[in-house]
Amino acid sequence: MKCRMCHGRAVIKLPAHNLNLCENCFVTFLQRRVRRTIGSLRLLSPGEKVLVAVSGGKDSLSLWDLLLELGYQAEGLYIDLGIGEYSQKSEEKAVSFAQRKGARLHIQRVKDYFGGLAIPEIARRAKRTSCSVCGLVKRYLMNQSGRCFDVIATGHNLDDEVSFLLGNLLNWQTDALARQAPSLPDRESLRRKVKPLVLCSEREMAAYALIRGIDYILDECPYSQGSTSLLYKSALNRLEQESPGTKLRFYQGFLKSRLAFVAKEEPELQPCENCGYLTTTQICSFCRLQQRVLERV
Ligand code: SF4
Ligand code: ZN
Repeated sequence: MKCRMCHGRAVIKLPAHNLNLCENCFVTFLQRRVRRTIGSLRLLSPGEKVLVAVSGGKDSLSLWDLLLELGYQAEGLYIDLGIGEYSQKSEEKAVSFAQRKGARLHIQRVKDYFGGLAIPEIARRAKRTSCSVCGLVKRYLMNQSGRCFDVIATGHNLDDEVSFLLGNLLNWQTDALARQAPSLPDRESLRRKVKPLVLCSEREMAAYALIRGIDYILDECPYSQGSTSLLYKSALNRLEQESPGTKLRFYQGFLKSRLAFVAKEEPELQPCENCGYLTTTQICSFCRLQQRVLERV
């Protein structure tokens, strides 16, 4: 198998792009793809200060690596969720990547906001699932840490996006469809969020991390097991296998018709009376969760 670009020995086959590439040409291909995604979807402007949300996994660490390679001023944010060994290992990977690249990593610990409790205990006390509490807390801490940055970048890849998309369509969650954009504008204290990897598949990101020598956590969060998003991913993988390029066509088609789901009027936001975070209610959901959980400590 020969590399289509340099005719050397190809190491990766990309049926969706009808390409076989060697290691070096694959890295060039992926960097170019991310640069073009950033340009065509207007995700970042030159000179912007970017905060990359890193989990210690392949996507977020590779995104940080790609943004640094493309010349962006990118710092990392790791949120310690307190999920046992999984969180400890993830943090080690994020810290060692930052040290290797000489880049700055900010760390937020959920326990510091909830009287020493971590995500699983917060969820138990709030009588909610770990993932719903985790999503809310991560969003809040990301916005809080992003205040000194122009934009927050997350490592959602094509497989993540098409799996959300399928789930949102199957359940006709039109609000979620409207919010499922590669770029969400900032609104005062809420920072702009961008997803520069939306056109890169999970497999491509794993190959990039491997070739670039990025040491990432292989374990998945224990709470992700049995989630519907994994079921949708496996269904989409079957479709992709039978018809390469399905995921890209599905997502790019959505980008063209997404505006049909966007509400004419945005909900009115006001500062939370407790912390100032923008919210649709008097007290934001993070402060309400905090009050509820801390009352029971
Ligand atoms: Fe948080 Fe783990 Fe759920 Fe992901 S799977 S939202 S990291 S608790
Ligand atoms: Zn608040």
